[in-house]
Amino acid sequence: MRRPAALAPGLLDDLAARVVSTGSGEVSVTEVFTGTELTRLPLSTPSNVASAVERARDAQARWAATPVRARARVFARFHRLLLDRREHIADLIQAETGKARAHAFAEASEPVLTTGHYLGAAPDLLRPRRRRGMVPLAVGVTERRLPKGVVAVISPWNYPFALSVSDAVPALLAGNAVLVKPDLLTPLSPLYGARLLAEAGLPEGLMQVVLGDGPVLGASLVETADYVAFTGSTGTGREIGRHTGDRLVGCSLELGGKNAMIVLDDARLGAAVAAAVESAFTNAGQLCMHIERLYVQDRVFEEFRDRFVAATRALRLGARYGWGYDVGSLISPRRLAEVGAHVEDARAKGARVLTGGRPRPDVSPSCYEPTVLAGVEPGMECFDKETFGPVVALYRFGSDDEAVTAANATAYGLNAAVFGADRRRARRVAARLRAGTVNVNDGHMAAYGSMDAPMGGLGLSGLGRRHGAEGLLKYTEAQSLAVQRVRVLQPPSFLSPERHAEVVAASLRLLRALRVR
Ligand code: NAD
Repeated sequence: MRRPAALAPGLLDDLAARVVSTGSGEVSVTEVFTGTELTRLPLSTPSNVASAVERARDAQARWAATPVRARARVFARFHRLLLDRREHIADLIQAETGKARAHAFAEASEPVLTTGHYLGAAPDLLRPRRRRGMVPLAVGVTERRLPKGVVAVISPWNYPFALSVSDAVPALLAGNAVLVKPDLLTPLSPLYGARLLAEAGLPEGLMQVVLGDGPVLGASLVETADYVAFTGSTGTGREIGRHTGDRLVGCSLELGGKNAMIVLDDARLGAAVAAAVESAFTNAGQLCMHIERLYVQDRVFEEFRDRFVAATRALRLGARYGWGYDVGSLISPRRLAEVGAHVEDARAKGARVLTGGRPRPDVSPSCYEPTVLAGVEPGMECFDKETFGPVVALYRFGSDDEAVTAANATAYGLNAAVFGADRRRARRVAARLRAGTVNVNDGHMAAYGSMDAPMGGLGLSGLGRRHGAEGLLKYTEAQSLAVQRVRVLQPPSFLSPERHAEVVAASLRLLRALRVR
């Protein structure tokens, strides 16, 4: 297979040099399309993490003293670079994840949206705000936003570029330094993100990448960082929550999902089918917000099912750089085995495979066909556990209440979708769904791409939010700076304590009356 220019040895060597490492260990990075080695990168050791944190603290102290508008200038340049280098970025993403070009392109675009949004929003979100003082005029209070310090961004393999860069950008804008630990399967595009930030003029030491095994290197990072922004599985999220809890530092945990889409009987079926295909099979279903449960109302069930199965069957599988096909590969042979095991378990327990249900080694070593299941029931692995692959189960429902109950019957709560032509009815149903993001007449992108609104999970899907005000303010500590302009809070010498207590009580009554008004 002809490799694109982004994968030329010169660039790969530059990326290798960006890993904070003095150890002798190496990791082999695989080109997913072929299963062959792409390059080798040095591994970091726990002592490399310690020295990176030290360097980050130094750089962060100067960065925090830099005005927000000056910090923003770096990100205005970064925004331009992200757009100029989008082809390189998509090449690297495709090489290490095996996703289709369109999905790599969507991923490359995500940090453009995030950076653009926070460039506009950060100066206002971070500016000191006057708050009402305890005693009007006599006490002045300012709420300030202080950076946390050194933020660890621990990211998964499914969106390695977006989930490392986009979480780093608001943290950096807020005045922090960032240490990124990508997954060992996908270090190239996060390293390229660090290179672009350096090119944009981000001072040295503020964005460093360490590479290593999650439970060892990730853990040493969690032991030292002032805040941890983690995206990954619910199991690891729990572990990180325990450690940060012990240390009393904050964390955000963006975890898994078992996301439902409801198709009401007045939905425009063409649009609903297209969105269901997109949201079930984007990145071969390795998207935290993707749809794994599809509930369709009685009256339109057969027609929707037939059209959805036909559209799924028509998806073109491929494993090459460049456009011209719809779905790429799973990330690894291990993931292929896990996805296949979910389908085989369902099949063995009585579920029907309406289309798909087999690996496609003729396309690439880890390719699996987009799969639609019917008759999935409790007791089957894929009924309530996240499959995280191109597998979706179809269910039928009668009333809107029934759909809401079924969609909410999950310990997760990341994303959900409702399709219906009567938008008021669809919105009513949507508002009853327990998920951090809910889309009406779209599968996932409407909510995820709306950077001004928070995104995150309920229940086993995690804690904290990215995007919106919370996506930046989580990287700060609020400080209330109160100035007593006139000495009113201590009893004056000419009043007895009893008289002072009466004056205080009368003042509290007056304050309440003023505030009500
Ligand atoms: P994972 O938890 O195995 O790994 C994620 C990251 O954590 C990797 O960098 C890994 O090396 C590191 N890690 C592993 N153990 C660690 C430990 N003990 N301490 C510190 N770091 C550790 O997750 P994964 O399998 O790579 O990712 C897939 C999961 O991520 C899915 O469940 C998916 O739904 C979820 N996800 C969620 C979102 C979201 O925004 N909610 C987005 C993408 C993926």
